[in-house]
Amino acid sequence: MTAQLPSRHLSADQAIAALPTEAKARVSDAEMQQAVRTLLIGLGEDPDREGLIDTPKRVVKALKFLTSGYHQSLDELLNGAIFHENTNEMVLVRDIDLFSSCEHHILPILGRAHVAYIPNGKVIGLSKVARICEMYARRLQVQERLTTQIADALQGILQPQGVAVVVEATHMCMVMRGVQKPGSWTVTSAMKGVFADDARTRQEFMSLIRHTPTFH
Ligand SMILES: [Zn+2]
Repeated sequence: MTAQLPSRHLSADQAIAALPTEAKARVSDAEMQQAVRTLLIGLGEDPDREGLIDTPKRVVKALKFLTSGYHQSLDELLNGAIFHENTNEMVLVRDIDLFSSCEHHILPILGRAHVAYIPNGKVIGLSKVARICEMYARRLQVQERLTTQIADALQGILQPQGVAVVVEATHMCMVMRGVQKPGSWTVTSAMKGVFADDARTRQEFMSLIRHTPTFH
């Protein structure tokens, strides 16, 4: 199958190697905690009062967890779980919960992703689709890039006939500050291959993600 693809398509290994998946920490935890302590003082707080004494440690730990996607790679995450399968039917994983952080304010982005692809001889486990979303969400993000990274990852891993990703999210930096618009949702999409080229395929995907499931 792969041999028939045009040469502009990378192999899965090449695609994985080309994706930015690893970041190196350049400061120690102690330095990060000191920075949080400085922030607290700057906010007019007393970092030595009882309730705040362990806050720098907790904030650093929480932020490291929320950005742990920097230390994961697609390779590790997939762990070779790519299977050969002759199907031309759309694979759709919808309503994948997303918890990300905006890179402008380091405030939460909460939302859902709907991810579909049409295989071209290869599939991955459905849970891996959710894990890919999670890996990119656990980095400092803008919603547009998060959406594209998920699509690019699937494109690189599977070289499918097409990939469609829609992310619907609400940004706490808009809800809690700035324009203060609770209930505002941002929708972004990335369409590749047949989803970009064929309106009917795209339409099928869009109607499937609008359908309300009868079970939860
Ligand atoms: Zn923001």
